[in-house]
Formats: sequence, C-alpha cells, structure tokens
Amino acid sequence: MKELRLNIAGHLRWDETVMRAFAENLPYRLSGARAVSAGERLVELHLPDAVDTQAARREAEELIATLIAGFRDGRERVLREFSLGTAEVRPDPMLALVADGGVKFTGRGRAVYGGVTKLTVDALDAKLARSAIELGAVPQNYPSTVSQSSMARCGYLRAFPHHAMFVAATAENSPALKGVAESVAGGEIGAGLLGPHDQVLSPTVCYHCFEALQGGAVDASIYTAVGSCHRFEILAGRSLDRLQTYRMREAIVFSDTARVAATLDELLERTESMLRRWEIPYRVATAMDPFFIGAIPTKAYFQSVFELKRELQVRLGFNGKWLAIASFNHHQQSLTQAFDITGGGGKLESGCAGWGLERFAYALFAHFGTDRASWPHGLRADLSI
Ligand SMILES: [Zn+2]
Repeated sequence: MKELRLNIAGHLRWDETVMRAFAENLPYRLSGARAVSAGERLVELHLPDAVDTQAARREAEELIATLIAGFRDGRERVLREFSLGTAEVRPDPMLALVADGGVKFTGRGRAVYGGVTKLTVDALDAKLARSAIELGAVPQNYPSTVSQSSMARCGYLRAFPHHAMFVAATAENSPALKGVAESVAGGEIGAGLLGPHDQVLSPTVCYHCFEALQGGAVDASIYTAVGSCHRFEILAGRSLDRLQTYRMREAIVFSDTARVAATLDELLERTESMLRRWEIPYRVATAMDPFFIGAIPTKAYFQSVFELKRELQVRLGFNGKWLAIASFNHHQQSLTQAFDITGGGGKLESGCAGWGLERFAYALFAHFGTDRASWPHGLRADLSI
C-alpha cells in the first residue's frame, strides 16, 4: 500500500458530511483505495501499489469537486431529537454476539445468525408488521430478484450502479453447461458461460410492489412486506450495522400528495413513540443514501433527496455514532409514473417506509446488552419476550 495526502484547504465547504460521502464513493471508483480524514483540511488516501498515483489524484480531485458542488444545494438537517440523561455505556454488542456463536460471518458483510439476534429481528418484524396492518396495509411476499429492466426504469441503476448485484443463469447450450459443471472451487466462471444478467438481487423491498402493479391500478393504499435486500457494500465488515444482505420490513403507500405524506408521518411517529417508550435516544434527520456521482443530475438530485427522505437514527453509546434504523421516503410521482401505475382518480403518488431489522436489533443490543431477560419491562412486553 502507498499513501497520498490531499490538501483541501481551497474548499471552504469541506466538512464531515462531504468527507463521509467521499470515503463512501472513492473505493467504488478506484479499486482497493480507502480514504481517511487526516485533519480538518487533509485527506489521506491509502492506495494499492499497482494504482497510478497521478491517476488516483485526478480521480479523487474530480470526486471532491463534484461533491462540493452538489452539497451546495442540500445538507442533512436534524429535524428533531429525543435525548435522555447519561445512560450506562456498554461495549460494542458484536463482541458478545460473535463470542457466543450466535452470529457468524461467511464473508464480508455476510452474516449467518440465530439465537437472540434472530429472535430479536423476528420480534421487531412482527411488531412493525402489526403496526402497518393496523393502518390498513395489505401483507405480501416477494421474490429475491427484480428484473434488470425494472431496476433501470425506477432509476436505481442510474443512481446506485455501485450497489447493484446482477444475477445470470448458465447460458443455454451444452458447452456452457459443461464449462460450469467442470468449474473448480474458487475459479472464475467465464463470461461466455453465462446467459444475460437480466435480473438483479433486490436492493430494497418496494421495487417488487411497483413491478407487480406496472401498467395497472392499485388495489390498496398500503402494502407491506419483509424481504432480504442486497447491496454490494465495499466497506462492509463484520458487524450488523452494515451488511451486504439484510432484512427489511417495508410499508409502501399510494395516494395523493397529502395522504402519502400523512401516512409516512404516522409510520414515523409510531416508530418514534416506540423508541420513546423504550427510552432509546434518537433523532430524525433529512438524509440521503451514499450515492454514485456520475450520471445523476446532481443539483436536482441533491435538492429533492433532502426534502423527501427522512431517517430515524439511533445513537450508539459505545462509539457515539448515529445509526439509521429506518427511512421514510416520499417518491412523489417518480415511481408511479415510471411504472405507469394509476388509481384514486387523480395524480397518484407513492412513498415507502423501511426498517432495517438487523440494525434495529443491533441498536437494542447496544443499549440494553444481549441478555434479553434484563431488558426493560416495556420493551419485553412490546416484543413479547
Ligand atoms: Zn422502498
């Protein structure tokens, strides 16, 4: 590895948010590269020896310039915060969860888990599903893959090409079948042996709902489902806070502007009230996903994303960081138009709320430890523990 230091003194708008977006984006553009802050106006790049330093500097500077320009038009904003007095600070619960064998990592960001982690994930999901169904949501089950054409249609591939994981079947001919059958463990399967990558592992739950309703009318105003979401996460490690495959409960809402907004508000308030009852400090902030900067119309994207996406973030005592456990997104007409979905007699809008179940469980473990028998009574009652 080699190091390259970048001085960003010339960029007045450089701050932690821009640094985080830079560190998230860079490794996807420059294989093996990592960026760390080396001071208020100094970034250190760790580069594989094979990377050309000048090319890396150009790539990094171009990314910085684009980020600075984009963030001029929007910023994360804390809308409200619920805090409590000083609570007991516990160690990172991953240590205990891995030590007792309940969580095993089979690769970067890939966790197999049982024990208290599974019980808590399932209990949270049951609670959130009940809450959505109380509001009238129709429960559904979805497959693991979405067609590549739907992923292009909804704009995901344009905004998040770096997170997409494509799926292909073996090509439909004898040499390809033989080639795959004779492949050895760890060996590459040649591109010619595979058919078209016409499906993508679902990065989220709601795209299935839009895909199923495509070209028709909605028959409910809220749907809900739980599913596995898959995102190629280059920075994933061995913790439940960032997984390549994770479980998410979603509620997908269809109606006019006011009703979509009101339903998202209600879903958010219900989650906030749970956290208040359980005495877990949280904040609600406008937010955005770590996006890819390239083909997206940066200014419009930055402006709209900060108005339309809210995150519920929980503070982790052991490192002081805010962890997003749920997001509430108003799509306006972007997806109903893209999928030609109608209903309600007027302009149909959509929105979705998604709860990351492993992260939610992780936040509970961080606050209350992994011995669920010692959890507060209200929390245990709510989760039927
Ligand atoms: Zn969604």
